[in-house]
Amino acid sequence: MSGCPLQRISLTAHHGTCGKQGALKKETLTKRIESFVNWANREAEMHGLPDQTIPEDPHGPIRMGRFRRTLAWHIARRPGGLIALAIQYGHMRTVLDARTSSGYGSRGRRGIHAILDVETALVAADTAARLRDRAAAGEKISGPAARRALTAAAHAPRFEGRLVPRTFAKKASAFLARDGIVLYDNPDAFLICAFKHDNALCEPEPGATAPRQYDCRPGCGNTVRTDAHARQLRERADQLDQFAAHAPGPVSRRLRANAHRLRETAATHDSTAHPAEALT
Ligand code: SF4
Repeated sequence: MSGCPLQRISLTAHHGTCGKQGALKKETLTKRIESFVNWANREAEMHGLPDQTIPEDPHGPIRMGRFRRTLAWHIARRPGGLIALAIQYGHMRTVLDARTSSGYGSRGRRGIHAILDVETALVAADTAARLRDRAAAGEKISGPAARRALTAAAHAPRFEGRLVPRTFAKKASAFLARDGIVLYDNPDAFLICAFKHDNALCEPEPGATAPRQYDCRPGCGNTVRTDAHARQLRERADQLDQFAAHAPGPVSRRLRANAHRLRETAATHDSTAHPAEALT
């Protein structure tokens, strides 16, 4: 199936014969989610992908409350991916996260804000756990925020399971507000961002508690890399060289230049990285 399937659900009403437009009502959205599920299942069947069908849910049909969590999952875990909508979600996070500078900020952290906080806290905890595991497995760590990230990872909370009680939203929000110790995975930039607002080169809004990962800039003081990131950088560089071999002149040159830049970043990691014991 091509593209992000969430594109199938439009959240605004189309111009109808009665001329009405604007946000959809809950009932209409529920129907659209239902038809999205039917569409996804039909597509999966058509393309011979039975494992990608959406199974019957023992808890009943998916309504907006639960769908919001899916949306939050994408915002939290797709910081600036190759899918166009992921970039849109990245922008959405900026709007949602500008607690003090936008109209949203003046409202309480309820609804999508709370769900987004929960998903972001879960993914930050996963990132911290992965960093701990990699360090324990002997991987070296580089980057100006390496020491801070290791300390943060050692103290990050573990969230077992994925069923979160209502009260968790407050805890998640408090956890995310601690500047400098929340770790954001940024797979598109091959790094972990140990987000500290004052260091951030991606120019987050004043008061924002999350980076603008889709606009990650080289040389930022919040950057952390492990040996795994260096490997991924080289793999991506090889991939770009393969694309370059089949691309016309100027595109090919740009791809090769990008591949070169990625290899240089990997080499910088190799020459500056230290084992965790040397950093803590
Ligand atoms: S520019 Fe810095 S703060 Fe922004 S996403 Fe990249 S590493 Fe994080």
